[in-house]
Amino acid sequence: MRRSMKFLLRPTGAQLIALAQCLEDHRELYNAALEHRRIVYAKTRTTVRYGDQSAELKHIRADDAQGQGRWSFSSQQSTLRRLDRAFRRFFERIHQGRAPGFPRFKSRGRFNTVEWPKDGDGCRWNSRPEHPTTAFVRIQGVGHVKVHQHRDVLGIVKTISVKREGARWYVLLSCDDVPVEPLPATGSAVGIDLGVCSLLTTSDGEHFANPRFLSAGVKLLSAATRDLARRSRGSKRHRDAAARVAALHGKVRRRRLDYAHKIANRLVRSYDLIVHEALQIVNMTKRASPKPDGNGSYLPNHAAAKTGLNKSILDAGWGVFLRILVDKAESAGREVVAVNPATTSRMCNRCGHTAKENRVTQAEFACGACGHTAHADVNAAINILRAGLALREAASAA
Ligand SMILES: [Zn+2]
Repeated sequence: MRRSMKFLLRPTGAQLIALAQCLEDHRELYNAALEHRRIVYAKTRTTVRYGDQSAELKHIRADDAQGQGRWSFSSQQSTLRRLDRAFRRFFERIHQGRAPGFPRFKSRGRFNTVEWPKDGDGCRWNSRPEHPTTAFVRIQGVGHVKVHQHRDVLGIVKTISVKREGARWYVLLSCDDVPVEPLPATGSAVGIDLGVCSLLTTSDGEHFANPRFLSAGVKLLSAATRDLARRSRGSKRHRDAAARVAALHGKVRRRRLDYAHKIANRLVRSYDLIVHEALQIVNMTKRASPKPDGNGSYLPNHAAAKTGLNKSILDAGWGVFLRILVDKAESAGREVVAVNPATTSRMCNRCGHTAKENRVTQAEFACGACGHTAHADVNAAINILRAGLALREAASAA
């Protein structure tokens, strides 16, 4: 099994500067390689291949020993491959007749990751069993950087990445052959409904609230984002405001992750089978409705900014949560099934009657045919569980 792990880096001042330079040089390489491809594409409508650019990299490194030559050849190749993937997606979209967005130059702040595709090649992970909470990662051109290792690394480290998030730096390990540690079977299955009022509701009637820190964080973030929009680009105030937005984003993200881990642990411990709605089809977040001002017009309520941010945070929350759940389930030998949520919120779980009117309010479900009433999210979660069980049965029959 493959798993990824993420740890906070604790670089020294000099290492911090070197890390920033390493990232900046990889960004420049990405942009230069993109420029090269653009020119060739504009002139000849042909594409430069990854192999051509990788071969050229040797000369670039030789000509710029103090600059690009400082870093690992492999991490630079990885950056060129990343560009290659962006081009593949571009040509795929053309092929499918969709509007193609030409791969874009990465500005500062839009390029935050450097990857070393193989442990030991330009970057080496150094766990120290005698010091379980401090590890080191040796990065070519940067040095031995201290790592806050908050958990054990399992399996074999394959690829190593360094990522900047606001003012913090992280190391990401992708590990192979991580052992599965199956939990004892419980004989129980559950459906989960992902919502707005409650983050998650189970078919057993358990509600997990959206934590208060999330809405508080959204408020602070909205204020900080508006503040950022007022500052003029390039000014010190703009830089400070941008740093504040990034720090708040980081804080919300970390606390949300923590919360998601807790809920996922609970579910994985209690159930052998967990059924959820397939996310890409759901669109649960409602727009904030505009308030009439009494003169036939509407008061500004910052709906666009608020909803956009709210939505992006909630959406990200669900995606993150499901990824964590699937990971944990896999290591515990549990099963996770995704179902199409098309009718789950409108269908009566007792008689199967399906109508929009069944859902009286966001929270209340009352069947128009049999009179069954229930919490709307619990009703949906039960339908989700049934759909998952049916799907599994069909799959085992085939
Ligand atoms: Zn009914």
